[in-house]
Amino acid sequence: MLSNLKAYFRPKSIPEALALLEKNSGAILVVAGGTKLLQIQNNIVQELVDITALGLNYIRESSSEIRLGATTPLQYLVDSATAGGMLAEAARLSDRSTMIRNVSTVGGQLISTTPLSPLYCAFLALQAQVRIAGGSEFALAMNIFLNKKGLEGGLLVEVIVPKTKPTTFSAIAPIQSNGQHPLICACTRITFMNSTCSEAKLAITGTQKVPQRLHAVETFLEGKKLNEANVAAAADIACEMYHPISDAMASEEYRNEVARVVVKRTLRDCLEQFEDNLESQT
Ligand SMILES: Cc1cc2nc3c(=O)[nH]c(=O)nc-3n(C[C@H](O)[C@H](O)[C@H](O)COP(=O)(O)OP(=O)(O)OC[C@H]3O[C@@H](n4cnc5c(N)ncnc54)[C@H](O)[C@@H]3O)c2cc1C
Repeated sequence: MLSNLKAYFRPKSIPEALALLEKNSGAILVVAGGTKLLQIQNNIVQELVDITALGLNYIRESSSEIRLGATTPLQYLVDSATAGGMLAEAARLSDRSTMIRNVSTVGGQLISTTPLSPLYCAFLALQAQVRIAGGSEFALAMNIFLNKKGLEGGLLVEVIVPKTKPTTFSAIAPIQSNGQHPLICACTRITFMNSTCSEAKLAITGTQKVPQRLHAVETFLEGKKLNEANVAAAADIACEMYHPISDAMASEEYRNEVARVVVKRTLRDCLEQFEDNLESQT
């Protein structure tokens, strides 16, 4: 509960929102869906800037990228054909209830990300960038934004997902029990050239303080066929470099063991999609 709240603003433009945010340090906060803020105990915040009237609720597609506005509800990603399979599934997994996903936003999910956020993980594998407004506008790669650098007093405006080649396939593999939040999740994007992996991007949740890319696995896979031996070797490397958290849902040891499983699943899934695609062309 925000127990010292005195004012609520609903600006109609980004400059108007930034002007409000700049005038006050520490005592003013952005609110988007409000589902995270609902849970916060805070007696310092005095003013809220509601950003839902800034026109940032959209999924736009061009020939080179998909742009997701910061206040787009997660459920829109789940329902959108444009967002695509991995992104839609990552959004679905990020908040368990449809009711919450109808309110919680892409920006809110990223700003309040946890080590277990499937959406953050998917954006890492998809090489997304976040566009920040604050003074001037600039874009940050997801892995830099990961440290939240440059966001102080600023506004996350949109997430930009570059479009990929027709021979690029992506997959997500969570492990969850009874529909709970996934205790681990891997996201992979593979580009094939002939039947060889020409580019690999892999990310995994369960790392401190946010999901991380598995760079050594990516390097290992590039230039190789995704046969069972290479898939198994990639999973071994993933386990070696993965340093997971322990929490109430799973121990470090358990996450380390199942990391092998989720990495393998995503690699096999990407290969299957590639082979199905080849078959459909012949
Ligand atoms: C019943 C319930 C169940 C939930 N289940 C889950 C779950 O399973 N998994 C999970 O991860 N979370 C869960 N949450 C938490 C919450 O739904 C998510 O973190 C959600 O994605 C936050 O989005 P929001 O738009 O509501 O953010 P808000 O609550 O509006 O904001 C969250 C934070 O982000 C900042 N912020 C928001 N948008 C921007 C922006 N564009 N620029 C700069 N700062 C911004 C706000 O200032 C605030 O600090 C749950 C919440 C509830 C109430």
